[in-house]
Amino acid sequence: MKLETLKQAESNLLLPTYDRHPMLVTHGKGVYLYDSEGNRYLDFLSGIGVNALGYAHPAITKVIREQAARLIHTSNLFYHPYQAELAKRLTKLAGMDRAFFSNSGTEAWEGALKLSRAYANAKGKGKTRILALENSFHGRTFGSMATTFTAKYRKPFLPVMPGVAFVKFNDVDDLRKKFDDTVCAIGFEPVQGEGGVNPVSIEFAKAARELANKHDALLIFDEIQCGMGRTGKMFAFEHYGVKPDILTLAKPLAAGLPLGAIITTNKVSEVIHPGMHGTTFGGGPLACAAAVEFLNVIGREKLIANARSVGAYFLDRLRKLDAQHGSIVDVRGVGLMVGVELNSPELAKEVVKQMLAHKIIINRTHETTLRFLPPYIVTRQHVDQVVEALHQVLSSCASAADAPAASQSPRRRAQKDSRRNQQ
Ligand code: PLP
Repeated sequence: MKLETLKQAESNLLLPTYDRHPMLVTHGKGVYLYDSEGNRYLDFLSGIGVNALGYAHPAITKVIREQAARLIHTSNLFYHPYQAELAKRLTKLAGMDRAFFSNSGTEAWEGALKLSRAYANAKGKGKTRILALENSFHGRTFGSMATTFTAKYRKPFLPVMPGVAFVKFNDVDDLRKKFDDTVCAIGFEPVQGEGGVNPVSIEFAKAARELANKHDALLIFDEIQCGMGRTGKMFAFEHYGVKPDILTLAKPLAAGLPLGAIITTNKVSEVIHPGMHGTTFGGGPLACAAAVEFLNVIGREKLIANARSVGAYFLDRLRKLDAQHGSIVDVRGVGLMVGVELNSPELAKEVVKQMLAHKIIINRTHETTLRFLPPYIVTRQHVDQVVEALHQVLSSCASAADAPAASQSPRRRAQKDSRRNQQ
C-alpha cells in the first residue's frame, strides 16, 4: 500500500488524534527503522522510549515467537509461569515486595492513585488529596489527566478527578506549604519526559520523602518513561537515595509489547483484596515472557552501563554544541534521556523535520525541547552522527533569533550556566 492511499484512508477512518510524519514504516533492525521508499533512519526516539533494545532483537523475537505458539492469553483467572517470575525479578531489583501488571503506562499510574486512596481510606483518615508537579505528564485516563499539569491535556475533558494540587517544580517551599494531613500521596516523574526532560532535584525528592513519612502519605514515582535503565541505572530513584512506596513502569518493560507495572511494598498491598482492582489483558503470558527476556538481555549485554556511558558522552557533545549555537537555551538529561531546549517552538518543529530529512528520528516535547530517547544499544558513533546532523540543521535554520554564540548577552550565558549548575 502507498503512503498517499494510507493517509487518505486514515483521514476518513480514524479519530484525528495524531499528526503523523509522512513516512510509512515497514520494518526495523537494531537502531534503524526503514520506510516504504527504502530509506534507513537512525532512530533516536525508539517509539517514544519503548524500543530500548532497538528493533528485531533476536532473543526477544525468539521468545515472542515461541510463546505465541504456546499461549498468548489466559485472563487473570488462571496461573501462567511468567507473572510471578517477572514480579520476582522486578521486586528484587527495586527492593520492594509486590507487583501488579497492566497494559499501559496510564493504567499503571491510575492503579497507583487507586492504591494510595485505598491505603488512606483503609486507615479511616479521610485523606484524599494528591499532590503532583507542575509540568507533569502521567497519561490520558481521568486520574492520570487530573495529575497531568499541562492544561491542553485536561481542558477539553473537564471535569477531571478532583482533589489534585500542583506543586511548583523543584520548589521545596511550595511543597512544604501544600503538604498537610489531608494529602494521601505525592507523585511525580523523577525525570519529567513530556514536560521537557526535567530532572527533579535530589533536595526536592528527599523533602517529598520526608513529608510523606511525616504525614503518613505515600510517595509515588512515575518511572514509565525514565525507568528500566533509561537513565543509566535500573530505576531513576537510585540516583536520589530516596525510595518510593509505589513505582510505576511501562514503556520498555516488554521490549515493545504493551505492559505496565505497579511495584509496591507489603505495607501498601495489605489494603488490597481480590476484586478491588483488575484487568483482562494485563500481565498476559506473551508480554510477561517478553519482559523477562528484556531483563535477561539488558543484563547479558550490559546495556544499562552502555546507557550511562554513551549518555554522558552525548550530553558532553551537546553541551559543546550549545556553546556554538545561540538558539540552544539549555541541554539537560540523565543517561539516554536527553533534552535540548531551543529558543522557539517553530524552530524546534523545523529542526525535527530537518533531522528527519537527515534520516534521523527525534521529537519535540513541551513546545521547545528536542527530545532524544535512543535505544540502549547506541554507540558513540551514532551519537557523533546525530550531533553533527544537529549542528548542520541548527546552522542552516539560523535566523534572526539565532544569534551566534559570540554575540550572546552575558545575562543569557549566566542563565544557561546557572540552570546547568542546578542539575
Ligand atoms: N507517565 C509517563 C511519565 C509517561 O511518559 C507516559 C507516556 O508518555 C505515561 C505515563 C502514559 O503511558 P501510556 O501512554 O503507556 O499510557
